[in-house]
Amino acid sequence: MKGNYHTHTYRCHHATMEADEAYVKAAIAAHFDILAFTDHFPFDYTEYPCPFHDRMDLSEVEDYLSSIRSLKEKYADQIQILVGYEAEYYPEHLEHYKKMRRDVDLMIVGQHFKRCLDMDYADGVSDEDLDLLAEQLEGALSSGLFCYLAHPDYFMMGRNHWDEACERFARRVAEMSLRYNIPIEVNLGGLKYGKRVIDGEEVYNYPYRPFWEVISQYPCKVIYGVDAHASANLTDEFRKQEVEELLRGLSLNLVNTIEIK
Ligand SMILES: [Zn+2]
Ligand SMILES: [Zn+2]
Repeated sequence: MKGNYHTHTYRCHHATMEADEAYVKAAIAAHFDILAFTDHFPFDYTEYPCPFHDRMDLSEVEDYLSSIRSLKEKYADQIQILVGYEAEYYPEHLEHYKKMRRDVDLMIVGQHFKRCLDMDYADGVSDEDLDLLAEQLEGALSSGLFCYLAHPDYFMMGRNHWDEACERFARRVAEMSLRYNIPIEVNLGGLKYGKRVIDGEEVYNYPYRPFWEVISQYPCKVIYGVDAHASANLTDEFRKQEVEELLRGLSLNLVNTIEIK
């Protein structure tokens, strides 16, 4: 069995405009047995005067759920389809997460912003930010709402060096993954940003090998995630091969499917 648990749709407003069905067909062509749609989580905008346009809106939820559920039935004999969200975790939104979680199969945590829809970790990460990020991820994993930790090395987008603070953060991620038995993702989508020079080496921001070197010292579960924003990402062998090359020689505890909880 092989699953992809990180799939977006046009509703996030930064994926292709393809129909949801295109992702299902691509996943079948790529021999996935499980395809989970986990589009960017709609926050409750009543608290925000300026809606953030890089994610699903609450008004699109009904259409999202009904579309994916009908595909689930239509393709039931070819692939298992799940529907859920990728969300940042902020404890003050706990009630909203719980309410939204009831209608879906799963939620994965992908912490892009330091504060709710404000200050992207990609724009700069101090040592203090790494502590905050670790606390946010720990909060997500301990909440019982999430069953998958997306791109734990996303923070390297906002960091120019790998140092002790980064290593400490990686150890915390490994420890929380083990403590809550939640797999962490090697994100194939990070390649879309191309390479840049970090510590004198031209590398992708993420997956970032030194992070995974630390993770390889722990038995925590690791899973590849396509982070599809186009159906073609699911059949793209290049990204997979690039990342396999990047992680070559590391003994990661790779799994192909996750436990939905
Ligand atoms: Zn996205
Ligand atoms: Zn994503």
